[in-house]
Amino acid sequence: MRVCVIGAGVVGVTSAYFLARQGYEVTLVDGRENPGEETSYANGGQLSYSYVAPLAGPGVLSSVPAWLLRDDSPLRFHPRLDPHQWNWCLRFALACRASVSRRVTAEMLTLSYLSRDVLNALLEQEPLSFSHLRNGKLIVYRSGALLEKARALVEYQASHGAEQRVLTAAQTLQMEPALAGMRAHLAGAVYTPGEEVGDCLRFTEGLYGRLLRQPNVRTLMGTSVSGLRRQGARVVAARTSAGDVEADAYVVAAGLGSRALLHPLGQNVPIYGLKGYSLSVPLKDDDTAGPAISVTDYERRIVYARIGAVLRMAAMVDIGGDAGIDERRIALLKRQAGDTFPSLRLDTARPWAGSRPAMPSGKPWIGPSRAACNLWMNLGHGALGFTLACGSAALLTAQMAGIQAPIEPRPFLPE
Ligand SMILES: Cc1cc2nc3c(=O)[nH]c(=O)nc-3n(C[C@H](O)[C@H](O)[C@H](O)COP(=O)(O)OP(=O)(O)OC[C@H]3O[C@@H](n4cnc5c(N)ncnc54)[C@H](O)[C@@H]3O)c2cc1C
Repeated sequence: MRVCVIGAGVVGVTSAYFLARQGYEVTLVDGRENPGEETSYANGGQLSYSYVAPLAGPGVLSSVPAWLLRDDSPLRFHPRLDPHQWNWCLRFALACRASVSRRVTAEMLTLSYLSRDVLNALLEQEPLSFSHLRNGKLIVYRSGALLEKARALVEYQASHGAEQRVLTAAQTLQMEPALAGMRAHLAGAVYTPGEEVGDCLRFTEGLYGRLLRQPNVRTLMGTSVSGLRRQGARVVAARTSAGDVEADAYVVAAGLGSRALLHPLGQNVPIYGLKGYSLSVPLKDDDTAGPAISVTDYERRIVYARIGAVLRMAAMVDIGGDAGIDERRIALLKRQAGDTFPSLRLDTARPWAGSRPAMPSGKPWIGPSRAACNLWMNLGHGALGFTLACGSAALLTAQMAGIQAPIEPRPFLPE
């Protein structure tokens, strides 16, 4: 069977890889010249298996007014005369209900743990080099009250298999001495030993390199898809800048570009771009200016990860606005990072901005579309595309092949 996969970000490349391994003849198409050049490019690098709670959660809506008024807010909202934006915000508000958020967290944990297992099995067969480290994660808190709330979440997540410990400030500093700069403000931390980090772009490029060696894979890079042609109940071709691509099945894994491809077929995808930023600071091997363990500054919503020879920090959610780098946001991120790690050479930092392809509930869609009987989707991974890519690709492949799915697929089926 011939499958056309649209999108060569981390989600499309992993999808193409698992489909090829299943024996399909795969054509991978992307408008960019190289894989991973959009949102998968310089993200936070977290393989955040235990931290999959959606952005939509109880308490978020009540925090929004205060966030919007603060200059140093992790969240910014630029309202637009765009029904899609308001529709997304409304659905997001509905997903903030405690019952929904708890259910989504439990469902996402099934997918994230699957992803961890699938990635580790994959690496045994394909030893890819992407600065992959299993060095654990510290979520650090300045507020004692928030740390106590986190303790309750640790207990809840423990019932779903997460291994985590709450640490005092002294224990936190002992584990990660580079945090000494925030000693006076540190309430403590939650430590999760099983968390991993890696370079999402190098992972995507590495797996893409493996795809190129497979006889049943062809890639069409620098080839944008303008639409899908449907005849009766089937999609018969992807219209591309290099002509029609015909296949027996089509997978849309085009991140934010998915909406425009699916809308004309009557498949409405409630996906919206949540812009975030990253900085990459070069570090020497023995450099103690940055943390060795992956650190999340909870109150400021900044993640720090050592990825090979750089310290990558990523943060912020900007809703609306343009896609470019806002220098004021970069200056704020540098100021906050300098506060926490005063010896970092932030003048050498490389800035980047990307838009998370986010669904209101935080859950990706993995499965068949109702718009055509041979059309599939793997999209909407929001802030967790690197973390969830391998599990999502395995789940999609099992559904397409009609074999036993590795986890319950229903929570991720497109509406
Ligand atoms: C600041 C920031 C930090 C992040 N940190 C993390 C993190 O620490 N851990 C984590 O797990 N996730 C993180 N993420 C999220 C993660 O980066 C995304 O979820 C992931 O990259 C999405 O991958 P994707 O393949 O779906 O989309 P993309 O990487 O955007 O790929 C989509 C591809 O589709 C192609 N495309 C689109 N439309 C068309 C078309 N019409 N024709 C042809 N090609 C098309 C694009 O060119 C692109 O290559 C972060 C995101 C941001 C912005």
